[in-house]
Amino acid sequence: MSVISEVVEKIKKQDPYEFEFHQAAEEVLESLEPTVKKHPEFVKAKIYERIVQPDRLMMFRVPWVDDKGEVQVNRGFRVQFNNAIGPYKGGLRFHPSVNLSILKFLGFEQIFKNSLTTLPMGGAKGGSDFDPKGKSDNEVMRFCQAFMRELFRHIGSDCDVPAGDIGVGGREIGYMYGYYKKIVNEHTGVLTGKGMAYGGSLIRPEATGYGCVYFAAQMLATRGLDFRGKTVAISGSGNVAQFAIEKVNQLGGKVVTLCDSSSTIVDEEGISDEKCSYIIGLKNVQRGRISEYADKFSGSVCYIGESVWDVIRSQGLKVDIALPCATQNEIDGAHAEALVENGCVCVAEGANMPSTPEAVRIFQDNNMLYGPGKAANAGGVATSGLEMSQNSLRLLWSREEVDARLLGIMKNIHKSCIDASDAYGKKGDYVAGANIAGFLKVADAMLAYGIV
Ligand code: NAP
Repeated sequence: MSVISEVVEKIKKQDPYEFEFHQAAEEVLESLEPTVKKHPEFVKAKIYERIVQPDRLMMFRVPWVDDKGEVQVNRGFRVQFNNAIGPYKGGLRFHPSVNLSILKFLGFEQIFKNSLTTLPMGGAKGGSDFDPKGKSDNEVMRFCQAFMRELFRHIGSDCDVPAGDIGVGGREIGYMYGYYKKIVNEHTGVLTGKGMAYGGSLIRPEATGYGCVYFAAQMLATRGLDFRGKTVAISGSGNVAQFAIEKVNQLGGKVVTLCDSSSTIVDEEGISDEKCSYIIGLKNVQRGRISEYADKFSGSVCYIGESVWDVIRSQGLKVDIALPCATQNEIDGAHAEALVENGCVCVAEGANMPSTPEAVRIFQDNNMLYGPGKAANAGGVATSGLEMSQNSLRLLWSREEVDARLLGIMKNIHKSCIDASDAYGKKGDYVAGANIAGFLKVADAMLAYGIV
């Protein structure tokens, strides 16, 4: 049995129900196979075996009081996976599906993603099974304060710097940062995604969506293609999706789909900047459902209970480019086949692990340009890194400066993927390229520290 298979077998045996973590670890480890021969020093120091074990996991009770005066109890988590190359860094997710397996998968992916950005950031992830949907602002505030009442002791600007993720946007970061500042009595860069009035960075809200489109544009350019005149399918309607639309529009493409967890809308005329502003108000202020878009804009159609990828399959919707920006495992093998049949040439993942392993195989077998999340959505954490730099410098960079740095980082990530895939005999394979490039730096640092 190869070193890699042994490690995969071991984690499956250790935690048999952590399916999402197994999926992520297996995908990364399999693509690291070419590094095993070239780096016997990694094998000897058991780097592959060590890198799949988190540095530590925190799991805690989060009791809070709802608007009716009833006590509610949720679970809170922080997975500090690896800080070999910098302080732990990774988002907080508030969603009823949150559990240790999902956070271990996200924290593990974050190690390699953060390394790819070239900024000094380790990998972490956290969150809660709390669902902000349908809660009042006061309930969300009380929950965020209760969550921070425990989390504060595990984080710090040089130790662990959380950010947002699903269910955690500007409102939640504001409540958590306000409470942290109150109890620790320090105004410091301990969270990113902060508001502009209290230490945020320009372009941070836009960064993941913009970065994903920048990465897709780099991939398209390798085949002499660009966004102009292309039809684009985007899933989700949250932070990543909203700013992906804005950038696609700027580059001359046309976005025709969006969804939330209840339904999908198709607008074949295209989701213009004006329509996108409506969506931002609908989702971020009124906290409404995407189905309301179809009531507002005639000519658009709403499919209740179907995902974007279900609709592409059932309606034979033609799209050139797909940007999944909702959640993990949203595109399965049948969806991937439908994308191929409907003319899609490029998939860039705004979400983390939105494609199942079978879907990825189908994309690759059909010679599609496939950019995995850890490369394509790294713009968000990269700009969080830039927010940390600005907080340390006590400076605020202009919008243009941050956007130019983001574009530069996405181009570098693309180049690192291409270079690593070439160097390790996997030409054109962005999955192998991203995993290998991200891994090598972390592995070198772990080796330098000895056995710790
Ligand atoms: P968000 O603002 O909370 O939006 C998530 C969107 O996805 C919402 O429209 C949500 O619909 C939808 N969604 C969630 N679960 C779904 C499901 N099972 N089926 C269909 N739609 C679903 O979160 P976000 O920040 O945009 O994050 C989206 C993805 O990007 C996640 O995978 C996240 O890990 C990844 N990501 C985010 C960042 C960042 O900077 N924010 C950075 C890197 C990667 P509802 O409104 O119905 O819940």
